[in-house]
Amino acid sequence: MTEIDPRVARLNASIQGRLSRYEGDRKHISDAAVHADHQRKWMREHQPEGGQWGAPCMGDHEQSTPWPCQQMQNFDSPMAYMD
Ligand SMILES: [Zn+2]
Repeated sequence: MTEIDPRVARLNASIQGRLSRYEGDRKHISDAAVHADHQRKWMREHQPEGGQWGAPCMGDHEQSTPWPCQQMQNFDSPMAYMD
């Protein structure tokens, strides 16, 4: 099995941390849980080939897109977790 690029692992962990905090702060909001589920599914699909930074994203893109694709970059922005 190919080793995951540490930068890939770090970005995924960063996004997961943001998402967990987002969810934790909004336990009473059902839409937040729905949003988090969508994002987790999206993150499972949008990973780089071979786990390497800059490799093509395996998510659904019209054209081959190097990872992290735009949406993954957006997920790592605090702006993505505002109400
Ligand atoms: Zn993607």
